[in-house]
Amino acid sequence: PDLLTEDGRAGPLTYELELYQGCVRFKRGCKFCIEPKKGLPLWREESEVLSEITAALDSGVNHIRIGGATDIYTYKAEGVRDLEYPIPNPEPIAKILHGAREDERLKIFHVDNGNPSIVAENLEPATEITKTMVNTLSDGAVLSFGLESADPTVHEINWLNCNAEQLTTAIRHINEFGKGRGERGLPKLLPGLNFIAGLNGETDKSYQMNLELLHNLRSQGLWLRRINIRQVEGRGFQDISEEPFRAFKKAVREEIDTILLQEMFPLGTKLSDVWWEAHENRIRRPEQVLDPSHRAEVIRGKAGITFGRQIGAYPILVGLPYLVPLEAGSDIIVTGHGARSISGVEANLSINKATQSQLEAVPGIGKKAAWRIVSTRAKASRKSKIPFDSVEAAFQAAGIQTPEVAKQVFSI
Ligand code: SF4
Repeated sequence: PDLLTEDGRAGPLTYELELYQGCVRFKRGCKFCIEPKKGLPLWREESEVLSEITAALDSGVNHIRIGGATDIYTYKAEGVRDLEYPIPNPEPIAKILHGAREDERLKIFHVDNGNPSIVAENLEPATEITKTMVNTLSDGAVLSFGLESADPTVHEINWLNCNAEQLTTAIRHINEFGKGRGERGLPKLLPGLNFIAGLNGETDKSYQMNLELLHNLRSQGLWLRRINIRQVEGRGFQDISEEPFRAFKKAVREEIDTILLQEMFPLGTKLSDVWWEAHENRIRRPEQVLDPSHRAEVIRGKAGITFGRQIGAYPILVGLPYLVPLEAGSDIIVTGHGARSISGVEANLSINKATQSQLEAVPGIGKKAAWRIVSTRAKASRKSKIPFDSVEAAFQAAGIQTPEVAKQVFSI
């Protein structure tokens, strides 16, 4: 159903292809990681990757992510055998990204990981690659950066890849080129950040250092699309100190994530093509894909909750406080923020047709005002096919000022 919807339209399927195997740190890689065991990185040829993209598009796929690469910047890098920080080679990756974009069937196009120490130690060639990504990828692209821990002791014991200073340089670099918004209303390219808990040498202070680093990035106005906190357990790792770990996660969600979301997706921002996936609960369930009642136009605007995301890597979860048909997309206006999700209302609603639930979804329109608009409209519709001849007329009837967001949401 993700390739084609039940009624035969293009679905949200994203095809993931592998660019290369292994990591340039194959001689002395991060101790928790299996990539170095694969040895010298094995690059695929550009022509081979482009042929696979064409084959995917021929089969009906519209969206592609280049994954399976530990670092997009080190694809065919120079000095992989000898240098601690091999030098990025901008040409081969540009050939793939521009080559793929020549095919107009390709819609959403994203990549996966970046290595922040490579970027920080090779800013000049990295800049060329970053610019190519900003010019060819779809907006909302995310480069996941692995820091794992900001604690220098943990860094040393676990042979980690990148220190806090290199990470900050790389994050600043991506923000410099990628922060601007693209067609779908999203920042074009942003870094993501990974932490790992349970690494050897970790203490309660390690979490404080992580949090301090995040506050430091925030104080510089830098954006991170997502902060991923993972946990490793078992042989070769140490036990996690539960309470400080929980407090760290809570602080990240409350002090960093929520504020970042408010800055990256301000109230009133228009996001295009949110793909609606689930009703009532954010998990997409088979019956919601298969049962036509979840896709019927007649449910639009009725009471309930709908969840969706824009297609792409690490999309933001969007909640609408009413029902819209699933397995289809629409544009939204941002109306609120959670720690890891946003709420919205569809853009381009007619004030002459909006339901009570759709009206109530707009900040500044309460239950009473929504009801007054609906009931005044019902009376007026007996006399005219267009009960309100302007958006303002509806709010005058409700006895409230036209809320700011309403101006973006409604037309007549
Ligand atoms: S840099 Fe990334 S891929 Fe390479 S060893 Fe470290 S974690 Fe693994």
